[in-house]
Amino acid sequence: MASKRQIFVGKVPIGGGAPVAVQTMTKTETANLAATMEQIRKVAAAGADIVRCAVPREKDAEALKTIVRESPIPIIADIHFNHTLALKAIDAGAHCIRLNPGNIGGRDKVAEVAVKANAANVPMRIGVNSGSLPKHLHELEREAPVEALVAAAVEFTELMEGLDFTNFKISIKSTNVPNTIAANRLLAEKVPYPLHLGITEAGTKWAGSLKSAVGLGTLLADGIGDTIRISLSTFHAEEEVKVAWEILKALQLRERGPVLIACPTCGRLQFDMDSVVAEIEQRLESYAEPVEVAVLGCAVNGIGEASHADFGIAGAKNEGLIFTHGKPLRKVPQETLVDTLFEEIDKSLDRGKVEIDADESAEGAAWLAKIEAENAHEMTPERIAAMEKEAVEKGESDRVLLDEADSPTAGRRFTRA
Ligand code: SF4
Repeated sequence: MASKRQIFVGKVPIGGGAPVAVQTMTKTETANLAATMEQIRKVAAAGADIVRCAVPREKDAEALKTIVRESPIPIIADIHFNHTLALKAIDAGAHCIRLNPGNIGGRDKVAEVAVKANAANVPMRIGVNSGSLPKHLHELEREAPVEALVAAAVEFTELMEGLDFTNFKISIKSTNVPNTIAANRLLAEKVPYPLHLGITEAGTKWAGSLKSAVGLGTLLADGIGDTIRISLSTFHAEEEVKVAWEILKALQLRERGPVLIACPTCGRLQFDMDSVVAEIEQRLESYAEPVEVAVLGCAVNGIGEASHADFGIAGAKNEGLIFTHGKPLRKVPQETLVDTLFEEIDKSLDRGKVEIDADESAEGAAWLAKIEAENAHEMTPERIAAMEKEAVEKGESDRVLLDEADSPTAGRRFTRA
């Protein structure tokens, strides 16, 4: 269930049906203004909607004044243990305060921050982390960790409501993916507040991205989660932002920049597709438009499953085909395939539509038809899938066909973009 309430971190709406906001955290010493601002600009350019900075010292709270003034995106001050730093961060103009009520030194100190935040109309992110639950929940945590996490989050929610503070979002953080999923599902049923999703200490870029995609992707597909942060063991915070965007794009919850699709390759591959895909991916990074580009390792299947792509290439030994929306554009020598692809993409973006030269298109179509005819007997993965689909449709197979309308993200797609 998507959250009912909405808060604003700066001008960014969180919850209440707003697009799922991407956030990350700077990895610099906050008081090092040059390094921190450089990282903030990088993550903003990569697509972060919000950024969080650690504020463990007085000089970090002091630096916030400049950071808030110069940052292109809203700043969340990340506070632990010391409530006076939270008060100073509000004075410095922070757009949001992250604070775990359980580690700030008691109700009175939380109340002091809540009064000041209310007066300044600054929201908070309150939360619980597995491993730092209140003492009275430790026994429950041993027996039922999910229930213990949710119980702590509900207690903190009631604490804030008791202080007349409702301008907050909630996070439940755990290093355990199934527990994170279960706890957020349970919490979403109990509270109307926006939820911040993340997998704590997810790990390296490779493993951490996958854990986050599984955990956060599952929840987002359920409609749970209003802002996400991918925690990766890298000093390059923009990498976290890129992963967050890939998750949102995969679920078609938001659009940003190009989408690259590529076949997995198989024994029919006839060119060095690995390096070609890497080059295309790198070149696409400079495009802001949501252009979809497909790379097929051979032309054995025709354009087939990539026919919806805005542009694509199907490679062969010495030459390859450029296509657009399922139609051949032209056949070109292998060594100019990628450059020609980008020429066509650029032309279409400049002109707003693709111009197809009839002769070149016909030459490409004839080339494609010849390859298809030569390989008509090949049992490619795509052909096997098409045969299975046909068998189900004819009632000759019990396999279940995916119904797009039944997709967990149906109806939510792009509605929050
Ligand atoms: S048959 Fe399919 S998977 Fe194999 S190289 Fe051709 S397009 Fe790629």
